Amino acid sequence: MPCFTLDELTEQLSPIRKYNPVFGQLKTEILDAWKRALTRDTKNYNLRRIDVRDDEDSLVFAGTGNSAWVVIPTPLSTSYTSLPRRTGGGIRLNLGGTKLHIDPGPQAIANTESLLGSVIPTDGIVVTHVHLDNASETFPLIYSAAAGGSLRKTLVEEHLRRSLPVLVSNKTFMDDFNAGTSQRAFYESMLSRRETLQPGESVTINGIKITATPAVHNETPNISETIGLLIEYEGIRIGYTGNTALFKTAPVKEWERARDISARVGPIEKQLETYNHIIEAYEGVDILIAEMGSVTLNHDSIKPSQFLRADGIYVLAKAVKPKMLFISEVAPESDLLVPIDDEVRMIAHGDVTYRDSQKGEVSFAEVVSRTIENALEVPTVLTYDGMVFKI
Ligand SMILES: [Zn+2]
Repeated sequence: MPCFTLDELTEQLSPIRKYNPVFGQLKTEILDAWKRALTRDTKNYNLRRIDVRDDEDSLVFAGTGNSAWVVIPTPLSTSYTSLPRRTGGGIRLNLGGTKLHIDPGPQAIANTESLLGSVIPTDGIVVTHVHLDNASETFPLIYSAAAGGSLRKTLVEEHLRRSLPVLVSNKTFMDDFNAGTSQRAFYESMLSRRETLQPGESVTINGIKITATPAVHNETPNISETIGLLIEYEGIRIGYTGNTALFKTAPVKEWERARDISARVGPIEKQLETYNHIIEAYEGVDILIAEMGSVTLNHDSIKPSQFLRADGIYVLAKAVKPKMLFISEVAPESDLLVPIDDEVRMIAHGDVTYRDSQKGEVSFAEVVSRTIENALEVPTVLTYDGMVFKI
């Protein structure tokens, strides 16, 4: 198993540290950008229908934003017309004609309708944890995908000759489902079955094997059942980290500190005991979808991260060496444009056309993507809402 030191990582990513939003010079700029965003019109967010056939295996990013920021009326990123607005729509995965919707957060239905024409059919809905940006449209999606109402059996099963959706979720989401008496009664009939996954457990939908991978990410201060996913179908292996911190990376000092802090906060301490699995979970994947959260480097944080962030993705990608890396679920501060100075340009000279290279600006997240790509020679794509990848 490859081993990494924090020093090695810091050296690779050091140019980014200069722009650390927490400690760096951009803190004021972020606040200013927020003020501007709050007074700006955001109506020009329109996703257009994408060109992907029903029988093509594809990965469609219906929403790529992180945290509750995705439902704040005027997110930071909309203050820059050159940057995409990010919502919480989740991912639509089409494999062999079976359509899965992973983590349907805000805008999941609207974005899918815009991009693909309809949420019907949706054969499986997969929820990794209960957070708003990953799960808020699960019930609306169940309703829509099952065509709602009393005609659903006729519409979905007889007319489309498909099964009603399967709901796959982590334990917390399913516990809530079971506890909601009226909700359960209403939605249960719109599903063909429900499956709960804990790390290591698998379920199969039309030949697609979905295995829960471990994650370190607290859903509430007292509950920590978040999972990631390994999706396998006819030789294709796709890893989806979901929301997780990096764990078992190395003799990294921050984790020593995390242990100290977790002794006081509780749940993370328990999770860290399982931390030797994250790299093993995704070894050999063809595609790795890594969720970033903030761009801020972990070791500048005052508490253990709940997200991979820049350095976590770097370490994970270095160990896993996927054929293709997608960086998604990006926090607004990571989208903030920074000027390209000599130092950043040096690490950001990859073969990608930056969204705003004419202005001599590039987003934090792009810098991270290019740094990882150049350092690891892994094709790395920073996602945006409406991105489609044909597998
Ligand atoms: Zn979360």
